[in-house]
Amino acid sequence: MEKIRILRVGDGAYNLGPKTSSNRAAIHYAYRRKTGTMNLDSGVCSRARLARDARFDGKFFIGVLTTKIYCRPICRARTSKESNVRYFPSAAAAAEAGFRPCLRCRPECSPGTPAWAGTQNTISRALRLISETGLEDGGVDSLAEQLGMGARHLRRLFLRHLGATTSSVAQTRRLHFAKKLIDETTLPMTQIAFAAGFGSVRRFNAAIRNVYHRTPTQIRGLAQKMFRQPENQYLFQLNFRPPYDWKRMLEFFAVYATPGVEVAEGEYFRRSISLNENRGYFEVSLDASRNALRIQVQIGEPRSLFFIIERIRAMLDLDADWPTIARTLGADPALAAHISSHPGLRVPGCWNGFELATRAILGQRIGTERANALVGRMVRAFGQPFSPANGLTHLFPTPEALANAGLESIGLTRPQAAAIRGLARAVRNGFISFERVADSDAFLTRLSEVPGIGESAAQWVVMRALREPDAFPSADRDLARVLALGSSSAFEQRSQAWRPWRAYAAIYLWTFTGEIRACGSPSAPSARKKGPEEKNALHPRVQVAVR
Ligand SMILES: [Zn+2]
Repeated sequence: MEKIRILRVGDGAYNLGPKTSSNRAAIHYAYRRKTGTMNLDSGVCSRARLARDARFDGKFFIGVLTTKIYCRPICRARTSKESNVRYFPSAAAAAEAGFRPCLRCRPECSPGTPAWAGTQNTISRALRLISETGLEDGGVDSLAEQLGMGARHLRRLFLRHLGATTSSVAQTRRLHFAKKLIDETTLPMTQIAFAAGFGSVRRFNAAIRNVYHRTPTQIRGLAQKMFRQPENQYLFQLNFRPPYDWKRMLEFFAVYATPGVEVAEGEYFRRSISLNENRGYFEVSLDASRNALRIQVQIGEPRSLFFIIERIRAMLDLDADWPTIARTLGADPALAAHISSHPGLRVPGCWNGFELATRAILGQRIGTERANALVGRMVRAFGQPFSPANGLTHLFPTPEALANAGLESIGLTRPQAAAIRGLARAVRNGFISFERVADSDAFLTRLSEVPGIGESAAQWVVMRALREPDAFPSADRDLARVLALGSSSAFEQRSQAWRPWRAYAAIYLWTFTGEIRACGSPSAPSARKKGPEEKNALHPRVQVAVR
């Protein structure tokens, strides 16, 4: 038996063996202790499993010893005896311990690992980089280098918090995505192999057979028969942990929709996309009965599907862990009423960081309506015409197209035009990249160096583009004023209580500005009912907002 070193026993962290010991030894040892990480202990896991509680979906996985299969907490399969189950903090950990994914509850459909706080932020960043790159170029060493740490330390962090190695987490994601493509699309297997990043059909076949004990074709035979989709269209269900306030997410996207590129209408959000010269669009709607968003993607070349879906997942903030966020924010009287009356607000991300930053520059000091009109003109003048679906007419202009564009001719002021050209050049030259960002502070500094981007605008861009749950627009005076705070340092100080979920606090403040101000004053009328005619009151700040 290897020697096991115990790390932070108090919080039930995974115990890591010496460098040479196998992961399996560490995992088996962990069996006999608490289940591990993320504030989950076996009692909580057990209750969530027996209640099939969807709020825990993706937060842990259940390995059944008698069948050697692992399941989601919501699995409808017959409930096993407690002594026959083991809990894992990630699907990769269950896989490393020798369990196979359940074909019934489909672990590949569970929401992703929740974002974490504090020192564990490194893991969130690592997971984000894996989503963006698939761990393809350079592997673990390069990932560790980007994060500014040794590969060994990164491996230890992954083992401790996810119970699995970095490469096994990346491999499990690929495999799960391949399984989704097999089940949910009619793509030929050869294309799935590449779309899921396997590099060769042979490796894809071997991986699927090894894990599922079936061929890809046999798995497709088991999947529900699907109606024929138009060519190049793919339909996905992306699950979330409830609650998810899709209505308000949609309203947020509607306020800042880029004309011709994005449309929020009725229950749908849709936008045109371009990835590696590959053009298409996607459309999102809610499937409340399944705790999922329905995503329809149309793209010429399915090879980019994995990255497209990962980007959409981030944009829609599907991995948020609501109960944990609500516990922290709900403790603040200024937010508590809204947390309980409107649970499940998410931080709206973005598809294209460059587009978001361009909009943020234009949104400074002018109303959203005026900014939208300018953005619309810019899209028509410098974007590529492209009409794949209703309401979509263009792709957003590339940095190359804007770097030397005569933006003054379409009505931008000289400082606005100069700022956008400056940003476009910085992105074109690689000084600023919205992808593979490991250090968000350094990124914020670089973005702020572009002349014409104010501090508050830069902070909102970082918050939405990098998806850091603790990012916070402390320089946003309008938000500070909601809490009657006069300076950004006072606002920064006030925000400490919301850590590590300050981005969510910002979204609540933004959404409920008027009402929060009313709640803060004892003489003010208490939370009024909002009728449909008051829909615009949801965005009382849109005339001054910089987003
Ligand atoms: Zn299952």
